[in-house]
Amino acid sequence: MPELPEVETVRAGLSRLIVGRRLVAVTHDWNKSFPNAEADVARFLVGAEVVDIRRRAKVLIIELSTEYSLVIHLKMTGQLVFRGEQHFGAGHPNDSLIGELPDKSTRVIFEFKDGSRLYFNDQRKFGWVRLLPSSEVPNIDFFKKLGPEPLAADFTWQQFRERMQRRPGSSIKAVLLDQSVVAGVGNIYADESVWGAKIHPSTLVKNVSDAKIKLLFKALQDVLQLSIDKGGSSDRNYVNAEGKKGSYLSFAQVFRREGQPCPRCDTTIIKTRVAGRGTHLCPHCQRRRNT
Ligand SMILES: [Zn+2]
Repeated sequence: MPELPEVETVRAGLSRLIVGRRLVAVTHDWNKSFPNAEADVARFLVGAEVVDIRRRAKVLIIELSTEYSLVIHLKMTGQLVFRGEQHFGAGHPNDSLIGELPDKSTRVIFEFKDGSRLYFNDQRKFGWVRLLPSSEVPNIDFFKKLGPEPLAADFTWQQFRERMQRRPGSSIKAVLLDQSVVAGVGNIYADESVWGAKIHPSTLVKNVSDAKIKLLFKALQDVLQLSIDKGGSSDRNYVNAEGKKGSYLSFAQVFRREGQPCPRCDTTIIKTRVAGRGTHLCPHCQRRRNT
């Protein structure tokens, strides 16, 4: 599933390419992927100019000149691919990033005035593109429950601690994955950041010291930023189905590296289950104990 860094890669890439372009046509082949009234599409989307692209957690918000916005959730297999004088694609890493489009994963096609196109591809059809008045976007249920952005300049480790400590009896991993505590952290970055801070992911929040929480906060920010700097999963680092896939895992220290040596201590990384999720950890660096 594309996580925060991959969605940020989509945002940054598309910002350079589609802001200022005017939409002239939109087609879709699956109503759940594009659950919008035809009348709204005709009135507020077709003919609109793209004004800005923002990201909140793992959701993209494309702001339009009509004061409507496209809210896009990539979910499991969504990706956005731009084809014009330049090519760009990011999100779920598969061959549609680089192949001929539209293909069988294409759900929505946005056509711009100059003939360039933006494809929303989504093999498994869990993602969606909603057209909403921009003023209503912050009020949709999905956003109302969200915690702060982990990379926001004004988000401090003390606020992070305070939000974590609202669930003292939960495991540190469960709380990291709780979108109301902090927004946009999924399985990869939860595993990577607790490894970075040397905390066993099943440690209860109430047993984690302030010093460790501070380390965890730093580790989380570092791993998210590193992935963003590497361009998440985009067509630039996607090779093909047989080659290095997607590469948003290329920097991972523990995630999906079970059986391999811990980069810090050489102990074999194991895979276990914490908070109902497959969890990768180093049994030496991340001993189960009170921290
Ligand atoms: Zn280790």
